[in-house]
Amino acid sequence: MNNVSIKKVLSLLTVLSLLWGIFGIAVVGEWEGDVAPAKNVIYLIGDGMGYDHWKMCKQESGTDKLFIEDGFEYYGFAKTRSLTNAVTDSAAAGTALATGVRTYNGAIGVYLYNPLAIGSSPKNLCEFAMEKGLMTGVVTSDSDDGATPSAFSSHSVERGMSLDLSMQHVESGIDLIWTASSGNITAETVKDTEYTLITNSDELEALPDGVKSIGQFNTDLWARENDDNCPTLSELTVEAIDRLDDKNGFFLMVEGAHIDKHSHSNDAAKMTEAMLEFDNTVKAAVDYAKADGNTIVIVTADHETGGIVYKDGKYSYTQGSHSAANVPVCVYGTDDFIAEGDTINNVDIPVFISKALGADEEAFPASVPSSFNFKYIIADLF
Ligand SMILES: [Zn+2]
Repeated sequence: MNNVSIKKVLSLLTVLSLLWGIFGIAVVGEWEGDVAPAKNVIYLIGDGMGYDHWKMCKQESGTDKLFIEDGFEYYGFAKTRSLTNAVTDSAAAGTALATGVRTYNGAIGVYLYNPLAIGSSPKNLCEFAMEKGLMTGVVTSDSDDGATPSAFSSHSVERGMSLDLSMQHVESGIDLIWTASSGNITAETVKDTEYTLITNSDELEALPDGVKSIGQFNTDLWARENDDNCPTLSELTVEAIDRLDDKNGFFLMVEGAHIDKHSHSNDAAKMTEAMLEFDNTVKAAVDYAKADGNTIVIVTADHETGGIVYKDGKYSYTQGSHSAANVPVCVYGTDDFIAEGDTINNVDIPVFISKALGADEEAFPASVPSSFNFKYIIADLF
């Protein structure tokens, strides 16, 4: 080991021990406990959604109550910081929520000490569920190279590696990945793969059961008036559940991405539309879980965006960036995870989910073999 690598290792160890010791930050999820097994888990992530987004949404829409406010059995809070920053980005937070491992801002499913994913990376919940023989799905209103969906399918040094992320979706083996389009995935891209490409409601309807699919929809997915031949996020979620519902069970991640996007621009009216559609989506998931009786639904956020505060009789944005505020955790279908009002680390959520889906003590968090995707990273750089 030369001097440079020794210095790197020493500084890394110093950072980790400082974080661990002084601030009490969990580097990996440590949730321990007994959990009654569930057949299915639906994991919904409201990107940028703090508790006050619910309040602002009601204020702006005139709605008395959102489903998400009392449709769950337990409500708590999650801390969101990344390993390197008090205020996380969606890449590090997505990695924490997908793998139970904290990492640096910008990282997609890679360790702080191994950003090029040479050899190994943290295992994500889709990879875990596939090993268990479950059906898997990723549904989001973000494009396929977005940080949150990518954290459930990919491993990459930096969230800006758009082609690297999209191509890993196509190689992931996940049963359905339905997103807005980044433009990376075309009919040509999927030609020799196991995936069928669908781009609108007609093609979705015509998709045979049991065929793996990549959805590339040219819409924000949360407002029907965008395009009549594109499904909304809640419609996609209902359709995904229907297709994944299988004797062995399934794991489905659904993200509402535009709560964050419209909070960055402090557009309360558009954020409200996105929040209302996310609320419809959450209700659809819980309705399924109630009817099924063997499904856990967990809703959380990767971070809060916009620093919403209550001042002068109304909820208003105070900034155009992410904040360090704790975010909601809503739990349906299990008494084993949190007690009412608990504050947990976000990295504990995927650990709990893995246990509910049958992981033993050693199985999660864990590593998967991975390799540096030289070809796509070079293409992204140039
Ligand atoms: Zn954001």
